[in-house]
Amino acid sequence: MLESVRVRLTLWYTGALALVFVVLAAASYFLFWQNILQRTDSDLAELSSAFLTTLNAELEDQKGPEILKGAAQSAIAEHHFRDYVFVVLDSSGGALISSLELPAGKSAAESIHGGLLASAAFRKFAGAALRKDALYQNVPGEKGDYRGYARHFPVRGQTQTLLVLRSLRPQRVLLEEITATFAWVMPLAIVLASGGGYFLARKSLAPVVEMATQAEHIGAATLHERLAVRNEKDELGHLARTFNELLDRLDQSFERQRRFMADASHELRTPVAILRGEAEVALSQPSRPPEEYRDSLGVLLGEAQRLTQIVEDLFTMARADAGQYPLEPRDFYLEDLAADCVHSARTLALAKNITLSMEPSEESPIRADEALIRRLLLNLLDNAIKYTPPGGQVSLSCKRLGEQYAVSVTDTGEGIPAEMQPRIFERFFRADAARMRADAGGAGLGLSIAKWIAEAHDGRLELTRTGATGSTFTAYLPITGEKSQSLR
Ligand code: ADP
Repeated sequence: MLESVRVRLTLWYTGALALVFVVLAAASYFLFWQNILQRTDSDLAELSSAFLTTLNAELEDQKGPEILKGAAQSAIAEHHFRDYVFVVLDSSGGALISSLELPAGKSAAESIHGGLLASAAFRKFAGAALRKDALYQNVPGEKGDYRGYARHFPVRGQTQTLLVLRSLRPQRVLLEEITATFAWVMPLAIVLASGGGYFLARKSLAPVVEMATQAEHIGAATLHERLAVRNEKDELGHLARTFNELLDRLDQSFERQRRFMADASHELRTPVAILRGEAEVALSQPSRPPEEYRDSLGVLLGEAQRLTQIVEDLFTMARADAGQYPLEPRDFYLEDLAADCVHSARTLALAKNITLSMEPSEESPIRADEALIRRLLLNLLDNAIKYTPPGGQVSLSCKRLGEQYAVSVTDTGEGIPAEMQPRIFERFFRADAARMRADAGGAGLGLSIAKWIAEAHDGRLELTRTGATGSTFTAYLPITGEKSQSLR
């Protein structure tokens, strides 16, 4: 049951609510009680002042040996309030006179215990009162606590002590009633709120359940389906949109893979068909002159080489797509590598009577994956030679432009038609498929691989010029790393 988010949400919500209730109730109880004490204290102080005013007035009228007692009796008679006790202490801390002894005081004080003055707590308070003026103190009693206030006053040159006590029982009873009400209202409120919480959690999570049901039906074959977005702006709408975007990316990726597979098998079909046809022709007669066999083997070798190249390119692309082509950067001189590539392409150029040259360049230290950069340059040189008519020229230059190198391969071919230019870096794209097949060229992967290599090095590959006088492809490669600087 706890696995359900709805239940967990409700439990959390109920727990938090209960905690808030308990803290709130405790704080209210505490503040309420503090407030009662404050009000009681100020009442006690006020009453004591009024009492002493009356007492002083009475003192003037009294005669005889017990004038204080007499005056106090009259003052008590005037100030008999429910729940209050007035006591005038004698010098030993005993009660000289108290409102409890008088009939008016007795009848009024139903919340006050008759034996209060004899209790140990009272005597302790009285003792402290003799020593300290304006003393507030709690006095525990049998019928509940009292709040006591002690005050000194002079009578004919002698210091006397007045105690006023107020029973806190009515307030306690009120608080207990409030607490008892809280005790059943709070659980009821929590139960009701948790029911509401569960309902709300259910309602809010209903779209998630719906999305899950929809998502369950989406598979490789139905990757074009999307989740319904109810409210674009809320969190669940955002989740649905994000999920749909993920599906978009997956769909595109699946589509790319499908196309890649289809194109790859299409590319492999031609050389395989040639291999098969050539072998079948060679074997169709029991014996042939050795030259014919040599010719056939030559064709087979050429096609096998082409197949090898295509398979290698496909493998590179597949690994690059899967992010499994870790770069192995090392320090080397770019102009040396370029010269090496020009040297390697020499035979190809010679076969087509093309002049292949490299412009003089300064030292160009770089930190990069040498094998991949070699492949990039060879792909560009290979294309330049392939698409330049016999007698043409191909040249390579390597220049530094700020924090990057620009390696350009320029040819004197026929150029690339404007409508084809945006597509030449696409996989399996060939501007002139028929011509390519006749030339036994690549599978249309050369430029995409070269572009990927440049980008994998945080650089880029661009067709910087093309026209009737030929084309120029430029690879921009960042120098990168302090090590390449140290090579200088
Ligand atoms: P391929 O393996 O067929 O050469 P690429 O990806 O290397 O494939 O090139 C894609 C297409 O771009 C080629 O088929 C060709 O039409 C065009 N192309 C590439 N380089 C040149 C160039 N130097 N001159 C003219 N066309 C080019």
